[in-house]
Amino acid sequence: MTYNLYIDGQSVPTTNHMDIFNPATGELLGKCPVATKEQLDMAVAAAARAFKTWSMTSNEERKAACHNIGKILEDNADELAKLLTQEQGKPLNGLGSRFELGGCQGWTHYTADLELPVEIAQDNEEGHVELHRKPIGVVGSITPWNWPLMIAVWHVIPAIRTGNTIVIKPSPYTPLSTLRMIELIAASLPKGVLNVVSGHDELGKMMSEHKDIQKIVFTGSCATGEKIMASAAPTLKRLVLELGGNDAGIVLPDVDPKAIAEGLFWGAFINGGQTCSALKRLYVHADVYEDVCAALTEYVKNIPVGNGLDENIIMGPIQNEMQYNKVKGLVDDAVANGARVLLGANPKGGKGYFYPLTLLADVTDGMRIVDEEQFGPALPIIKYHDVEDALARANNSDNGLGGSVWSRDIEKAKALASRLECGSAWINKHGMIQPNVPFGGIKRSGIGVEFGVDGLKEYTTIQAVFS
Ligand code: NAD
Repeated sequence: MTYNLYIDGQSVPTTNHMDIFNPATGELLGKCPVATKEQLDMAVAAAARAFKTWSMTSNEERKAACHNIGKILEDNADELAKLLTQEQGKPLNGLGSRFELGGCQGWTHYTADLELPVEIAQDNEEGHVELHRKPIGVVGSITPWNWPLMIAVWHVIPAIRTGNTIVIKPSPYTPLSTLRMIELIAASLPKGVLNVVSGHDELGKMMSEHKDIQKIVFTGSCATGEKIMASAAPTLKRLVLELGGNDAGIVLPDVDPKAIAEGLFWGAFINGGQTCSALKRLYVHADVYEDVCAALTEYVKNIPVGNGLDENIIMGPIQNEMQYNKVKGLVDDAVANGARVLLGANPKGGKGYFYPLTLLADVTDGMRIVDEEQFGPALPIIKYHDVEDALARANNSDNGLGGSVWSRDIEKAKALASRLECGSAWINKHGMIQPNVPFGGIKRSGIGVEFGVDGLKEYTTIQAVFS
């Protein structure tokens, strides 16, 4: 099937296309439109025209429009989940496509109900000052391939809820599900409010440079985040950058290894590890090291991996060949440098980018799989003897997205977690995010936050009104 762009309330064909393949089977899934610079300009111009009226609509009207989108997502969840599984690889079940579609609906309705009322900064005999939140203009959204629909919703809904208009560009690896979702929801809005263009990475660069886009919201790698910041500088765009992570977890000696195995597994392997806030380095105290390794191995060895359209599967393939080779390279490097394979590490080959769920023991800092973001189904488990040393190693990273502490003693764990250098810290779990809690990275993991009132504010500017 050949897909189209959606610009100014219309389905727009392109002359160029790129083939999109199912990562579980290698079969052609569909043809993605490749937008030209002129088509991007058309989309931005449509969004700029629509901004004039959309920014003036009432709060209630925009709230209702967002709830209506939530309903459209619910009505079309089956179709979108199936397409997402075929395109991204994540299974229908487990924390897969149905879970992602559920998240899209939940985030949409929650964000629809958020309010940014006028705040009173001062009200006394010297004067009255009100703070009004105003939309910014045309927002450019650039998304990655790991959670294509959920991340699109995270960008689109707060933008339109606050009166902005938007042009979204999905990843060239997973464009089809986003094109279809946007077509479905954009038709419910005035024309030009929501537009989608797709193509290669250069299209993202053109958006970052575009003089009529006022803000970029980007989720993706640190390297691309840097480039976007540079491209956006001459036009002084507002930026929210949600970038890569290399989250550490610290397991204290008082844990029950069997009791934490399931939480450690999902923390590290959600979406086959292709999640920004997945647990990517596990530091375990020497007293419980072998027991934690054994409990995790016992849990992970029974996880069914395969084509996600099969209802029995809860873990799919890696999404693309580039990432498959990266994960394989990092695991091979660790094994060559002395890592002990507890599970996996030997892909069978055959159709699809299937890489076995891999657990590596006796890994040390300095190995590439610890120092770099693997973004795949392989977890390095590192032994430590002194908790202060483990904390220093956990913090010895350019990234600062999330981190976790695992212990029976919640207060002790919280005290340690507060010293982790990251935007989100979890106790006895990892990677939980919620629509009411601001989420974002520190250090090289990003700028700004998403979700909740703080996330919504990122789509506005303040006007102070003095009277
Ligand atoms: P990526 O940076 O390669 O691509 C992301 C998007 O940027 C794509 O749409 C791509 O076409 C576009 N792009 C590429 N070059 C560009 C340029 N020069 N200018 C503008 N746009 C450009 O990232 P990815 O591989 O798709 O995603 C994986 C990364 O995203 C991981 O590092 C992961 O940790 C991170 N991520 C972060 C979060 C978060 O919330 N912090 C969430 C999900 C993923």
